[in-house]
Amino acid sequence: MNIAIIGAGLAGLSCALTLEKHGYSPDIFEKRKKVGDRPLIGEAMSPLLHRPIDDAIKYLSETHDIHLKPTTNIQKIFVHSPNETSFLEGHLGYTNKRGKDKNSYERQLAEQVKSPIHLKSKSNMKRSRKNTPTWSWLLEILLTRKASNPSIQRLKLRLQVQ
Ligand SMILES: Cc1cc2nc3c(=O)[nH]c(=O)nc-3n(C[C@H](O)[C@H](O)[C@H](O)COP(=O)(O)OP(=O)(O)OC[C@H]3O[C@@H](n4cnc5c(N)ncnc54)[C@H](O)[C@@H]3O)c2cc1C
Repeated sequence: MNIAIIGAGLAGLSCALTLEKHGYSPDIFEKRKKVGDRPLIGEAMSPLLHRPIDDAIKYLSETHDIHLKPTTNIQKIFVHSPNETSFLEGHLGYTNKRGKDKNSYERQLAEQVKSPIHLKSKSNMKRSRKNTPTWSWLLEILLTRKASNPSIQRLKLRLQVQ
């Protein structure tokens, strides 16, 4: 089976890693010239953002076999109001890098992926269809926008009978 993944971001790369564990080798198409070729930014993974998951790193590792190394642990968060400052303390999650850094999450995932990543490759549905078998084209039409068309309905019935 040929599988195309559009975009070597966190979702695409995690999807590729999961498929590889099941014996598939998808082709990943990324429009940029490198994985993570975007300005470096910092992000946070915190139970404050990702409820009810308490520890996102542990969760991804144990539940999905996706392994990421965050940059730092968040141990204190300050909350400022015009007159007061308060803080939360404890294990409050992690910070991580995204984009142009060798330790950014997308670069970490790309290092683990064995499937080919086709860079500078802007894909769209039209182009993906070129290599898609006719039956899956038909299935897509039947399941989506043209399902109400009478001739499609007849075809659907015939397929069901077969
Ligand atoms: C400013 C900002 C701050 C954020 N902060 C946080 C945070 O602190 N914590 C948190 O958990 N989340 C945060 N997020 C959200 C997080 O970044 C996203 O949830 C995550 O990146 C989504 O992953 P993705 O793989 O779906 O998309 P992306 O990471 O955006 O990856 C998509 C990839 O697809 C490629 N692509 C797009 N179109 C095509 C095409 N037609 N053909 C080929 N390739 C294509 C892109 O180049 C890119 O590499 C933040 C987002 C932003 C914008």
